[in-house]
Amino acid sequence: MILDGKAVSAKIIDDLKIELAKKSTKPYLAVILVGDDPASRVYVRNKKKKAEYIGVRADIFEYPANVEESVILEKIDELNDNPEVTAILVQMPLPEHISKEKVICRISPQKDVDCFTPENVGRLTIGMEPYFYPATPQGVLMLLDAYDIPIEGKHAVVIGRSNIVGKPMAQMLLRRNATVTMCHSKTENLEDIIKTADIVVSAVGKKIVRCKMVDKKSVVIDIGIYRDSNGNLTGDVDFEEVEPVVEYITPVPGGVGPMTIASLMYNIVKS
Ligand code: NAP
Repeated sequence: MILDGKAVSAKIIDDLKIELAKKSTKPYLAVILVGDDPASRVYVRNKKKKAEYIGVRADIFEYPANVEESVILEKIDELNDNPEVTAILVQMPLPEHISKEKVICRISPQKDVDCFTPENVGRLTIGMEPYFYPATPQGVLMLLDAYDIPIEGKHAVVIGRSNIVGKPMAQMLLRRNATVTMCHSKTENLEDIIKTADIVVSAVGKKIVRCKMVDKKSVVIDIGIYRDSNGNLTGDVDFEEVEPVVEYITPVPGGVGPMTIASLMYNIVKS
């Protein structure tokens, strides 16, 4: 069965819109965008558009690539202190002369809808409630829940250990009582480990998961998204050969991508 992230996401977003329409106070999203990376511009514009669709006020604060670090840090201070602003996003990547760590640490954890700050990541790790869960892993769990796919007691293999995807994905699956194995580029016998998984979550950006690694009970979640040599959007899973074999699978595009947006909108409404 194909897990339809597009449909589940659309339903979540429409429910959020209805919920927000009933509220007397609205969230206010502030997005900081530095430089003119075309992909970042598209991401930021899409987030603003979606936020406005559900009734959120959203502003983008744009800076040239050569802006001084202090200007960005002062802007974050101002947004932290502004009681009207409920959610702050800083679009990554930042130019090299700006410290990503300093920027992340400056954001108020109560407005950190990306779950980037050490406080929120720490809370996630020690079993406390973070103010917000990270968008992509939360989106994956929302999708599994939408299809009533059990997580507790299952062996989940997470491939990829980035701070924004792989690591929090593993933490969140652990919190849901999965038995979690984390894999990365130095993992030996990756194929054998994937074969032992009930749930495979791949967040790499390369073709990793093939049909010989899965079976008819496998749940396969493909977070990866990149362009192949022909310029087509693709994921980490060989969809053509894996889809007929497994129980559940996410497509790329139309799987985890739209769920990430829905999950971010959920966080913004929560803010
Ligand atoms: P990243 O920071 O580049 O991390 C990639 C991870 O993959 C690293 O941990 C790396 O291991 C591991 N890796 C690389 N080659 C491997 C191999 N051959 N076998 C096993 N592991 C390998 O990337 P990211 O930001 O986490 O993103 C991963 C993918 O998800 C990308 O395609 C990205 O576009 C996509 N993504 C999608 C969404 C969405 O909403 N759908 C959101 C975020 C990201 P090391 O740590 O050892 O280097």
